[in-house]
Amino acid sequence: MTSGKPLLGCIADDFTGATDLANMLVREGMRTIQTIGVPAAPVQDVDAIVVALKSRTIAPQEAVEQSLAALKWLQDQGCTQFFFKYCSTFDSTDQGNIGPVADALLQALGADFTIACPAFPENGRTVYHGHLFVNDTLLNESGMENHPLTPMRDANLVRVLQRQTPSKVGLIDANTVKKGADAIKAKIAALREAGIRMAIADAISNDDLYTLGAGCSDLTLITGGSGVALGLPGNFVRTGALNATGSAADLPGIEGRSVVLAGSASKATNGQVAHWKASHPAFRIDPLALAKGDDVVGQALAFAQEHAPKTVLIYATATPDEVRAVQAELGTQRAGELVEQALATVASKLGDQGVTHFVVAGGETSGAVVQALDVRALRIGPQIDPGVPATVAIDGNGGAQLALALKSGNFGTVDFFEKALKAVGGSL
Ligand code: ADP
Repeated sequence: MTSGKPLLGCIADDFTGATDLANMLVREGMRTIQTIGVPAAPVQDVDAIVVALKSRTIAPQEAVEQSLAALKWLQDQGCTQFFFKYCSTFDSTDQGNIGPVADALLQALGADFTIACPAFPENGRTVYHGHLFVNDTLLNESGMENHPLTPMRDANLVRVLQRQTPSKVGLIDANTVKKGADAIKAKIAALREAGIRMAIADAISNDDLYTLGAGCSDLTLITGGSGVALGLPGNFVRTGALNATGSAADLPGIEGRSVVLAGSASKATNGQVAHWKASHPAFRIDPLALAKGDDVVGQALAFAQEHAPKTVLIYATATPDEVRAVQAELGTQRAGELVEQALATVASKLGDQGVTHFVVAGGETSGAVVQALDVRALRIGPQIDPGVPATVAIDGNGGAQLALALKSGNFGTVDFFEKALKAVGGSL
């Protein structure tokens, strides 16, 4: 195990994407901490840091400012290589934010070239001749063309990125990638020579991602989806900077009670809630009762108290029809806010009562709970299910405070809650 300074500094444009990336780095042997925004305090005992921003759909100038602040902090921690992480479907508009942020990071680092590769073949995202495929369809026919915030209507990423940046955009094609790391390095040198500052990189298999990682060992900045990060830890192992011992996922043990909170209405979460309810206590939060001003939070806390030391589930999860009915009555945003607020308050009050293990379902819900618990940084542990690691919230001194498993809606097997409690050291 290496001690000393972190090696890889990552900036992610959203929270669950940051967790996905951190999970990947731990799997490849790097001790990894994910921070929520740019932290005030330094972090310790870590090989990679992922700063989670919420910059995917904000104004480009703001995304640039936040990303540069994150970069500065990562540089201050001693990181030597940097990774800008975005979605594997290249979620962005013609204004940004991938191009502008990549440009600003290159400039701040005094670097003149980076790659852009959202590919993650394991999850069905491949890039071939610069075109992004989602499973067997082009990006612009995958449903992403209808995304409410970042509609992707062009699968040619060279064109897409070129619209976002004054820098010249090129391509590292699949044939070059297949030839190996040296061929990639030669291609990068040729592209540089031609005045190209960014190149979309093809990748159609996991092997391609590892090769790309090796081919990019000399780049100060790499940009892409979490997949391309698979190939980066190996570079540090080869130079001796990282001694990946297999204990990167170790987490400190934490005493105390547990709770499961579900604010996701996705299909997977509905299945997980039903599975839990069959053999464990569960309390349903009714958004209409919240809107009426009933003390639903008080009732949920009393329910948890009544069943202690057994672990309870507190959930707003409902079927699509039920959610639609509530949304028609309260408005989508108000319904969402009421539920998020209620679950966040429950989390914070249970925290005050000594609950230390939280399993949370829902991306936005997780954000609200993490904020209510005042969590600023997470040490990333073993994977529970793909994309969802066990984590421990650490304070400014690196001390362990809370154990957390944060799952976005559609992740996890049907017995996820039970599995996650076990993985974070909680109880049933
Ligand atoms: P996911 O990861 O599945 O998208 P999120 O937590 O990100 O889950 O989003 C789910 C949203 O739905 C949240 O804003 C939550 O408050 C809201 N919600 C949850 N349950 C209900 C419900 N029964 N009725 C209306 N809205 C709900």
